[in-house]
Amino acid sequence: MRYVSTRGKVEPFDFAHDKPKGFSEILLEGLAADGGLYVPEAYPQVYADELTAMRRMTYPELAFAILSKYADDILADDLRSIVNETYTKENFGSEEVAPIKKLEENFYLLDLCQGSTLAFKDMALQFLGRLFEYALEKKKETLNILGATSGDTGSSAEYAMSGRRGMNVFMLSPLGRTSEFQRRQMYTLQDKNIFNVAIRGTFDDCQDIVKQINGDAEFKKKYHLGAVNSINWARIAGQVVYYFWGYFKATKTNSESVSFSVPTGNFGNILAGYVAKRMGLPIKHLILATNENNVLEEFFKTGLYRPRIGKEVHATSSPSMDISKASNFERYVFDFVGCDAKRISELWGNLNKKGSFEISNSERTHISEDGFIAGSSTHANRLATIRSILEKYNVLIDPHTADGVKVGLEHREREVPLVCLETAQPVKFAATIREATGQETTVPTRFEKFRDLPERFTALDPNTNEIKAFIASALH
Ligand SMILES: *Cc1c(COP(=O)(O)O)cnc(C)c1O
Repeated sequence: MRYVSTRGKVEPFDFAHDKPKGFSEILLEGLAADGGLYVPEAYPQVYADELTAMRRMTYPELAFAILSKYADDILADDLRSIVNETYTKENFGSEEVAPIKKLEENFYLLDLCQGSTLAFKDMALQFLGRLFEYALEKKKETLNILGATSGDTGSSAEYAMSGRRGMNVFMLSPLGRTSEFQRRQMYTLQDKNIFNVAIRGTFDDCQDIVKQINGDAEFKKKYHLGAVNSINWARIAGQVVYYFWGYFKATKTNSESVSFSVPTGNFGNILAGYVAKRMGLPIKHLILATNENNVLEEFFKTGLYRPRIGKEVHATSSPSMDISKASNFERYVFDFVGCDAKRISELWGNLNKKGSFEISNSERTHISEDGFIAGSSTHANRLATIRSILEKYNVLIDPHTADGVKVGLEHREREVPLVCLETAQPVKFAATIREATGQETTVPTRFEKFRDLPERFTALDPNTNEIKAFIASALH
């Protein structure tokens, strides 16, 4: 499997080592050198016989079957061990890893939030942490991950990387502005390779500092700085697995098709669904749900892509979907423009110049052919959906899941199973749950382990030089 950049200016061949640019290389690289995103040269196909065999697999077996198609330059036995260590009952609460909940005939929730931070990002990041450790050891390299978090992605990354060899994590979070649950979760990690930097400022300050440090090529190189953001292809590959899993759990035979509804922010989760469909999984519709930040709803309905900037980005009650531009979206656009890197450069050139782009009518036809449907949800919709799912099925869902359920139900077809992805546990968003239902949520006992641990963090002013000095001294 070779990987190419969506901007087309990176050779898919590594001449220095006389081999194609494979999974192991793009794993640690992040963004391609030409500013594009890495994508596989072609999607591996799963034919009828293999699909039949997959139906009987356990979660780790299925994960290996799918991931080995993408990570074909990692020794099969090594990949199998990594996958087997990742998708365990200990890490995800049950052998099922991603249990399906049947609400009624042809209406399901696929529970992706049993991992250590109670949100679906653990599904891929737990795999990524082990994979990074393995790849760094092979290359005899070290990696220092620098990131900014408003609470969620950062803690998932810290849990995935904590205690792993060859890497450290420097995570900037705004002091006093994360939820109590998020703060306890991150700051109580006791591993020496985790550095919580609490910035006396806002999340934007944290992000600006990360950007400034990344702009200092010399510093970046000297201290081996990298990221684990959502553009990493290995994360997408790790998410493809649960679409197959959910499909098998919601159907009896491979002649049936299902529709998935996905609460969407950076377009990572739903992109994985699209990849699964391209690999041959019988998916009818991919239902994309946004909150008030409906950039992608607008695109899928009109062909206009116009990321919001500054004050146009709303702070909503499904905060993990409050994005301005969807970082994985370019991968999908690359496909429907026929893998034409020139066209991508043209579209993104327009984006940089005018703040938006519009695709042609013929390009637009791909959207419906690919099975995408889009819709959005408001705070009031979210509350009503949480309430009605609780009343009807006695199941409590989180606000992000509620966005997906609301839009999913609007497009439900009676004879096609609808699988709504459950992306976080309600306890993480206690205030919204209280507003919707009057109920208090409790932390499952499995996650109470951090209750009595001391918090480890360093509070610093939003001063880039001070943060640099902190990183430098921590690494000496
Ligand atoms: C990150 C996140 C999303 C959005 O997923 P994308 O891959 O960014 O589209 C939805 N719900 C929750 C709870 C999340 O943490």
